[in-house]
Amino acid sequence: MVLQDLGRRINAAVSDLTRSSNLDEKAFDAMVKEICNALVEADVNIKLVASLRTAIKRKVNFKELAPGVNKKRVIQKAVYDELVELVNPHDKAFTPKKGKPNVIMFVGLQGSGKTTSCTKLARWYQARGFKSCLVCADTFRAGAFDQLKQNATKAKIPYYGSLTQTDPVAVAREGVDKFKKERFEVIIVDTSGRHRQEADLFNEMVQIQEAVKPDDTIMVLDASIGQQAEAQSRAFKDSAGFGSIIITKTDGAAAGGGAISAVAATRTPIVFIGTGEHMLDLERFQPQAFISKLLG
Ligand code: GDP
Repeated sequence: MVLQDLGRRINAAVSDLTRSSNLDEKAFDAMVKEICNALVEADVNIKLVASLRTAIKRKVNFKELAPGVNKKRVIQKAVYDELVELVNPHDKAFTPKKGKPNVIMFVGLQGSGKTTSCTKLARWYQARGFKSCLVCADTFRAGAFDQLKQNATKAKIPYYGSLTQTDPVAVAREGVDKFKKERFEVIIVDTSGRHRQEADLFNEMVQIQEAVKPDDTIMVLDASIGQQAEAQSRAFKDSAGFGSIIITKTDGAAAGGGAISAVAATRTPIVFIGTGEHMLDLERFQPQAFISKLLG
């Protein structure tokens, strides 16, 4: 199910109820059930869906609604507020400051869209007046440096990497040191992924973190990750730790409910979403704006 379909389904459930002539508790329960089914089918974590159901029902307590109250408004607001709550980490994300080096390290599985998102983010900050650059600490995947080089060149972003150095920690340290000396303000470090969560990937991430002391670590999650998002994001959080999330491929076939659930599992804010393969396909994520757009 694509994200728009999830939005349409939730919307339809709410408007079917609020337009119907008998707005009673039974019809209300059916609406809540339909919203929950849609969320589960979109891979939102079952426990989260259960707490959303409880919260909506608590807010719209039919027996206690005063006679004059606009039930339609109460229901619409409860659904909207609880969907916002679902993606609200209650934690503020890191934002870079001008005039100092801000080191941002990326982590994630191979193919999640890390390298693409690194360039998108460097370009994003460059367009907003930050002197930005990229460091390729992925010495694991053949061709990783070439890919970053191509992206960076297209976006006119200075980059650092090595075709001969095989130690990712050394490359990361050298690149970050060099760009710090050159007074870059946003220094983005791309690291290698693996196909699965593996001990050597986590060890490498921790070592790079110790070497470059990032101001923020961003985990990249593919929107199609599904129900394993919670376990995966917890595993990353427990080893390397991260302060922000980017969800990629929100333009694809998956509604991204799994990735959205990672927010609640790790209480980490989503900062951006990837909306396509192009350099400019990056949007800032804000819970309220996201849910408003989802619901059209
Ligand atoms: P990495 O292995 O994590 O570095 O992943 P890449 O950055 O190489 O991305 C893997 C694939 O996903 C590439 O073909 C990208 O073009 C694609 N990709 C990344 N982000 C997005 C996105 O937001 N939307 C779409 N449609 N494709 C994306």
